[in-house]
Amino acid sequence: MASMANQYATASLKDPTYPSNCLEFIKQFREKGTSCPTDRPKLEIIVVGAGLGGLATAVALKTHGHSVTIYEQTPELGEVGAGIQIPPNSTKLLLKLGLGPYLKPYVTEPDSISFRRWSNGKTIGFTELTQKFCELFGAPYHVIHRTDFHSALYRRALDLGIDITLGSKVVDYDSESPSITLENGSLVKADLIVAADGIKSIARGILHGSIEKPLERPGFAAYRATVDVNLMKDDPDTAWLLEKPALNIWIGDKRHVMTYTIGAGKAFNMVLSHPDESDPSTWDQSTALRDMRAEFGGWDPRLTKIIGFIDKTIKWPLLTGAPMSRWASGKTVILGDAAHAMLPYMSQGAAMAVEDGVALAQALTHLASRADLPGVLSIFETVRIERTSQMQEASLLNGQLWHFPDGPLQQARDAAMVPETQGVTFSHSPNQWSDPATQMWCYGYDSEREIDEAFKKWGFGLGDSL
Ligand SMILES: Cc1cc2nc3c(=O)[nH]c(=O)nc-3n(C[C@H](O)[C@H](O)[C@H](O)COP(=O)(O)OP(=O)(O)OC[C@H]3O[C@@H](n4cnc5c(N)ncnc54)[C@H](O)[C@@H]3O)c2cc1C
Repeated sequence: MASMANQYATASLKDPTYPSNCLEFIKQFREKGTSCPTDRPKLEIIVVGAGLGGLATAVALKTHGHSVTIYEQTPELGEVGAGIQIPPNSTKLLLKLGLGPYLKPYVTEPDSISFRRWSNGKTIGFTELTQKFCELFGAPYHVIHRTDFHSALYRRALDLGIDITLGSKVVDYDSESPSITLENGSLVKADLIVAADGIKSIARGILHGSIEKPLERPGFAAYRATVDVNLMKDDPDTAWLLEKPALNIWIGDKRHVMTYTIGAGKAFNMVLSHPDESDPSTWDQSTALRDMRAEFGGWDPRLTKIIGFIDKTIKWPLLTGAPMSRWASGKTVILGDAAHAMLPYMSQGAAMAVEDGVALAQALTHLASRADLPGVLSIFETVRIERTSQMQEASLLNGQLWHFPDGPLQQARDAAMVPETQGVTFSHSPNQWSDPATQMWCYGYDSEREIDEAFKKWGFGLGDSL
């Protein structure tokens, strides 16, 4: 009787069309609908690219019972840069994909993010990231060394029996058959092809050449570096940053520096963003260290001291893609950075790729026959284009909010963050980690449910054929 009553209540309560979480409590009764039906066709799927996005997608597809082969151009896998943040919208999915034991030894859980004034490091914005944040969004906020994140996904993929073919560059796609052509001339067919070939994607041009817009350079570049914590430990000006795992970001005129410790406190990760309109092909990496120090001259002396500890760095172009109107073409689809490159200012690029992969696997649970594939991909792309375009927008907005020169706007921004630094209740904040509405949208997002809701909305409820 009780379950009949629950079913009735669940069916009669329609989700509001306005942003609201008033029906969250009913999720427990609906959860059953989001499991993976066993009678769905199991596909042969090719994933192109074994970056964070390709591996996460392959793992999500494999855990749904599909057969997955990855083709990766590099003969030896690796990741450029040092640290990466894994926000809870991504952590939640990774745990569901069985990554917990693979990630656990390597992740750090920062207890907060502090926004600091560029000139003196004074705390001007603050978000607590531990218990309350974790409870709100159902998973912890993590930071990790990229290599460890990548290797965790790689090992999980191998343990699941995913075939990973290294040293195999894909040079062409036929979206209808569908098939890929490798550099050695061989042609490989599958039921579905997923191109996660990164920001320089060739799939994007081949499949969507007619609608593709060039990547945009919003005028920023970043120096990426790590500092040996032993150098910081003995100096009171810098040792305080190692006392507890935390994110600290100094913000100022057209520049910011994001920092956190990784590798269980063994390395201090830094991303130093600064204005640069020049063509990356003209950059001289041999002067990067000197140029980086000059960029941040006059900033908080404690920060410049740490910058002085850096002994090598690379200058990295920061690009953003314009939202695309299609990701799918026939029985192929692009995702990850190939589909939605974004500024790293929300720390969500890889998180979006993880969401993409899980959402694609969930979309395929609505597939009744192989012939439905283009229709299923069309709903998948609609949901994901909306989500990732908004994240591109939020990332660009941070690039404006953080980079005000000193003056009335900067003062108003800092004044609006005062309540969060004092632990007082607030309804809005220019710090998008804290702003309650942005938080809920960013970290409370449920990729699988959004997909199921879209299928319901457009008439393809779970269990129905297209
Ligand atoms: C400075 C900086 C900081 C960032 N910080 C964060 C953060 O804190 N959190 C976060 O979530 N994101 C962050 N990001 C974004 C994140 O790094 C990317 O969004 C993510 O790595 C993209 O993964 P991907 O798999 O889509 O692409 P990639 O990592 O580029 O992988 C693409 C893969 O495809 C392979 N490939 C390419 N072409 C072919 C081909 N023709 N044939 C076969 N293989 C091919 C490549 O070799 C590569 O292995 C940051 C980015 C930058 C630049």
